[in-house]
Amino acid sequence: MSVNSLVGMQESEFNPVATTTLGRDLVAMPQTASQPIVSIKDLNVYYGNFHAVGNVTFDVPKNQITALIGPSGCGKSTVLRCINRMNDLVPTARIEGQIEYHGVDINAQSVDPVEVRRRIGMVFQKPNPFPKSIAENITWGARINGFKGNTGELVEKCLRQAALWDEVKDKLNESGLALSGGQQQRLCIARALAINPDVILMDEPCSALDPISTLRIEDLMRELARHYTIVIVTHNMQQAARASDQTCFFSLGENRMGVLVEAAPTKQLFTNPSDSRTEDYITGRFG
Ligand code: ADP
Repeated sequence: MSVNSLVGMQESEFNPVATTTLGRDLVAMPQTASQPIVSIKDLNVYYGNFHAVGNVTFDVPKNQITALIGPSGCGKSTVLRCINRMNDLVPTARIEGQIEYHGVDINAQSVDPVEVRRRIGMVFQKPNPFPKSIAENITWGARINGFKGNTGELVEKCLRQAALWDEVKDKLNESGLALSGGQQQRLCIARALAINPDVILMDEPCSALDPISTLRIEDLMRELARHYTIVIVTHNMQQAARASDQTCFFSLGENRMGVLVEAAPTKQLFTNPSDSRTEDYITGRFG
């Protein structure tokens, strides 16, 4: 199978019913190469009366890995979950500000959150395969999202993209839960790819994995970034330094509100940070 044929499914393989208002808006938007794929402007997030995240602004460049780092509780996961409207599922959560995806405000009334989550997929901290076969883990979500193509090809394509095919090709009908932790996480990545996203959000995807499985996921992320855009929350600074192109450093401001201190190319942030709070954190003086 050629590399090109491994890359992304055609939109036409998905049922047009699944292409909702967000899809139409996207078609209408003029795209330029330099336009960020996601643009976050003055994002504020509240849980009830608690102001959890204050005035966060940054862009997510296409085909790059953006890492969100900072001490626990400073709002990294909250910001990540806002990017595909997963935070809508928290009843007390409320946001202000704008998150644009290909120039479209994802929180606009006309936008369907289900379609947002199809285009902006998510991989969680703990590998969570469905209690189904390896193949069904790939096909189930794709079918629900209207996939009408050849499911055998889809399974192979996604497992190859997630660097798992060679390890599981002879046991596609066995349970996804029988795999090792690292393999389960790659299966979850394959499952996310199966619904044809262009952005993949990863919330500490390696925190439950051993160091070798962690490095495999990092290699996989670098490979995937050739065709997808990745935003990753990590508590592991070395991982951000090794694997990402851009790093956003978050910290706690007044009243434990999470603030974005600095967003910069990763090398710059780790070698020449512009804010003393970033320097204190990366040199281990705070954190
Ligand atoms: P991080 O990912 O940086 O550790 P989080 O985004 O998980 O930070 O949390 C930011 C703040 O929001 C924390 O004070 C946390 O307790 C609070 N928070 C997160 N999720 C919820 C929730 N579902 N309900 C109430 N508060 C929450």
